[in-house]
Amino acid sequence: MQQKKDRGQLIVLSGPSGVGKSTVIAELFGQRKNIYFSVSYTTRQPRVGEQDGVNYNFVDRVEFERMIAAGELLEYAEYVNNYYGTSLKAIQERLDAGVDVLLDIEVQGAAKVRSRCPDALFIFIIPPSFEELSRRLHRRGTDGEDVIAGRLEKARVEFKEIPNYDYLVINDKVSEAVAEIEAILTAAECRVDNRKSILAQFA
Ligand code: 5GP
Repeated sequence: MQQKKDRGQLIVLSGPSGVGKSTVIAELFGQRKNIYFSVSYTTRQPRVGEQDGVNYNFVDRVEFERMIAAGELLEYAEYVNNYYGTSLKAIQERLDAGVDVLLDIEVQGAAKVRSRCPDALFIFIIPPSFEELSRRLHRRGTDGEDVIAGRLEKARVEFKEIPNYDYLVINDKVSEAVAEIEAILTAAECRVDNRKSILAQFA
């Protein structure tokens, strides 16, 4: 049973392109309540099927740089020639209302969140093997050989950041990866620190 909390848990999820993060997130959100997906701002072009305000808030570089200058972003990073960033206001409002917030962000942004929000939970998703990651990127069929090679190279660099995360989830079967994340979130909820309001009645 999920209890209403005084404050939501900030959850940072990272993992290489092609690992299946979006599928895992969609399944997790299908079975978990009281959790909000932080819709990032980006300067990249929408892909087929992506909706403004749902997958991302699509903005131009001028607007993104205005947001940086105005201090409106919790974190941002430049990734493959585009900006990606998290709105501070959008997530703060949810956390204050006791709603958990999940950020799907890459490793540089995660490092910034780690320094600004030490209480956040940091989860990294990996494929069962490097060969499997390559197979998944090929199977997706959206990118050419050179783009896939670039993504695999980027994945190797990202894997070096794993020791800075709290939890490592292996996405072999989606349902098992989701169950592992559920277990992590449930354990976090049971921390004494997160149950201060329940404890008060036993004082
Ligand atoms: P894609 O272009 O494939 O949607 O995303 C590229 C990468 O940017 C992914 O690793 C994704 O997790 C990351 N990303 C998405 N939104 C944000 C954000 O707000 N901040 C940061 N730092 N990375 C993000």
